[in-house]
Amino acid sequence: MISWNIAIALAILAFVLPFIFLYFRMEAQRQRHRNDYTEKEYLRRMLRDMESHVRNDKSLFLEALGVPFLLLRPSGRVVMANRPAGELLGVDVACGPNLLKILPAGELRSVIAELLEARQAETRPLTLQQNGKEMRYVITATPLGNADRHMGVVFHDVTEEYRTQVIRRDFVANASHELRTPLTILRGYLETLSENPEDAQDTAYRTRALQVMNKHLQRIMHLVEGMLTVSRLENASSPQLKQELFDFEELVNDVVLQLESMVQSRLATVKVNICPSPFPLHGDRFYWSQIIFNLVENALKVNTAPGLMMEITAQKSPDGEVCITVQDNGIGIEAEDLPYIFNRFYRADKTGQVKGTGLGLSIVRHAVEAHNGKITVTSTPGERTQFCILLQAQN
Ligand code: ADP
Repeated sequence: MISWNIAIALAILAFVLPFIFLYFRMEAQRQRHRNDYTEKEYLRRMLRDMESHVRNDKSLFLEALGVPFLLLRPSGRVVMANRPAGELLGVDVACGPNLLKILPAGELRSVIAELLEARQAETRPLTLQQNGKEMRYVITATPLGNADRHMGVVFHDVTEEYRTQVIRRDFVANASHELRTPLTILRGYLETLSENPEDAQDTAYRTRALQVMNKHLQRIMHLVEGMLTVSRLENASSPQLKQELFDFEELVNDVVLQLESMVQSRLATVKVNICPSPFPLHGDRFYWSQIIFNLVENALKVNTAPGLMMEITAQKSPDGEVCITVQDNGIGIEAEDLPYIFNRFYRADKTGQVKGTGLGLSIVRHAVEAHNGKITVTSTPGERTQFCILLQAQN
């Protein structure tokens, strides 16, 4: 009886065991599957992360370039671009637009089309109007990769270099022009006097010739002096300034007196409003005379119409800071000229009628800074142009 029971139990076990074995196998398989799945998912995620890292790194790298950069297909479609490139082009570069279709007809589009057509490393100059300013660029295009020859395009901003070049060129032209006129006049008189003894004997002619020669010699000296002063103030690491105590009010009145004939010929009015009186100031009297002279003379030079109103003020704040202003209600300085007005050789006069070398305000700025001061200018043409000098408290 027992053996029957055992036999039946064994038979059941033999029947069930394969199922149990199958169950565990399937379960193990399912587990493996699940692991496989999570591993795949993990790998997929990792790949996605890596891609986004690479993309981020790439865009970080592109941003770090600092200059506008574009990667273009030969068709003109943007493959990649950084933020400065988007700003420069004025288009949304993130959505990969075709620049040859999206950019308005003009120099920028033609230059990009030419560079893409060239299919080789090329450089082109480009002038763009941006925020009302004329910007100069040099664009360099380089073919990248070898499949469909994408083009890497970099924009280099050379506006400042270009401006400096123009200023230098203008200075040489201005300085030679300024020097040539008085030199020609001097040579003319000298030739007449040496080649025509009768003229040289004529006292009236001789006196007149000497007066004119003297006037033009003064002009030459003025120009050379200006160039020397600028180079002295610009090149010396610390310009040798005298530290003397003088009355600023007296200095201003002296300068106004020196310019009296110009003031009268323009029917101008110069108000001097300096408080307290006397106004003691520490510094180099010579340079302070130059500062005030140049500022007042400039206003008189550029405003030839009668009736100019000028005012020179100076005051001290309770903590000893000194504020000096020179202002006029003349033609003023255009906003586009204001940032460059203190640059040496920069001239704002577009008519070519006003004599000068563009050194006056450069000397003023250097001289003010040599006294640890700051000079700024604001201008509303026709209403008020004001130069403002701030000096730290003096002991
Ligand atoms: P310049 O030798 O030509 O006078 P400056 O450096 O003294 O050179 O001045 C630079 C330019 O600033 C001048 O060309 C002039 O046009 C302009 N300027 C200076 N002061 C004034 C002013 N008060 N009003 C209008 N323009 C001015």
